[in-house]
Amino acid sequence: MNIVVQKYGGSSIGSTEKIKKVADKIIRTKKAGKDVVVIVSAMGKNTDELVNLAKSISGKPDPREMDVLLTTGEQVSISLLSMALIEKGYKAISFTGSQLNIQTTSSHQKARIMDIDVTKVTEALKEGKIVVVAGFQGVTEDNDFTTLGRGGSDTSAVALAAKLEGTCEIYTDVDGIYAMDPRRLKNAKKIPRISYDEMMEMASNGAGVMHYRAVELAHKYDIPLYVASTFSDEPGTIIDNGGGKTMEEAVVTGMASSLEDIQITVLNLPSPTKSLYRLFGQLGEKGINVDMISQMLTEDNLMHVSFTAPKDDLWLVEKVLREWQQQDPTIQWEINEDIAKISAVGLGMRSHAGVAAKVFELMSDNNIEVKMVTTSEIRITWVVVREKEQQVIDLIGHHFGLEMSL
Ligand code: ADP
Ligand code: ASP
Ligand code: MG
Repeated sequence: MNIVVQKYGGSSIGSTEKIKKVADKIIRTKKAGKDVVVIVSAMGKNTDELVNLAKSISGKPDPREMDVLLTTGEQVSISLLSMALIEKGYKAISFTGSQLNIQTTSSHQKARIMDIDVTKVTEALKEGKIVVVAGFQGVTEDNDFTTLGRGGSDTSAVALAAKLEGTCEIYTDVDGIYAMDPRRLKNAKKIPRISYDEMMEMASNGAGVMHYRAVELAHKYDIPLYVASTFSDEPGTIIDNGGGKTMEEAVVTGMASSLEDIQITVLNLPSPTKSLYRLFGQLGEKGINVDMISQMLTEDNLMHVSFTAPKDDLWLVEKVLREWQQQDPTIQWEINEDIAKISAVGLGMRSHAGVAAKVFELMSDNNIEVKMVTTSEIRITWVVVREKEQQVIDLIGHHFGLEMSL
């Protein structure tokens, strides 16, 4: 079979007019002789609306019920898209995650796909049907509904492409991957081809254009991803393993920024090493994903330790710290929600030193305090006060050549 998996995001199917246009695009591919499997997200901002509905009932909605609610969004769009295809004279059939037995782990709202039973998909393809599958959702062993985390339809698409041994195309409201979100950096350069490693670093540090786990999965199964616009024929971006010349030329390929983290500073910790072990052990047990860490020893041999964690986990972090304070009332902490985490990413950093030095020089020349720093082989991430975020994006974009030359 010559299978192509195409994924259409929420903004591409935000209205019934758009759904009809997407149907035309799918039909063009079908007419070109491909077997088409389509993954769709919920229409427009529907998932946000469902989240808001839940929050108007409960500050902390029950995770299982939340997934029952959120999976409805994709059920609406798969049925409407299939109807549009049928209306245009093509055979089509929609499937929810549970109908295809998209088996996931049981962690609601951040479930991971374990396996997919594609029998129904291949049977339908053999009957000449276009298959439309709900993204973002799956089921546990006990048949409870799960979702894969916001933006997770990309991951559904890659998982299906892997299972069906097909190619994978991600259609969205932007015509490819840019060196920085084009909404944030005016004149950002489009990247014709980017490596899995760089895209994973960008996606996990705020580039919401791709779900991190989709890129991870594509890398694992060595599936090239083609990211392009739903409504234009502009050439998009290929995400693959390739070490093309374009990637070698630049030291910094792209950047990303995230406002989704908080900085926590715990003051006056006694016996530093033991305290660190205990603090991060307890945070880990609660499933809190601690990212950046820095520490400072005081003259009295007490320690201040700062770390970042996802904003959504603030209540859990506070719970851990309050429990600890009951045993040791001298411990105090400060929470800073007013931060931005900026990352510069590039394979070229492996072979070129000096990116960190240049970043610090730029920050220093512009009187921007760097609160925390972390690096990987191909990334540097640093935290600044939120009000400086745009200035930092512009500075880095300009100095590392991430803008289009006019
Ligand atoms: P979809 O609904 O199709 O999944 P998303 O909103 O998840 O779309 O992703 C597309 C958006 O990602 C774009 O509108 C763009 O603003 C944003 N984005 C963030 N970083 C990048 C980047 N590096 N390149 C392109 N788009 C980016
Ligand atoms: N509808 C889901 C969301 O808004 C999944 C997705 O768009 O990929 O997060
Ligand atoms: Mg998305």
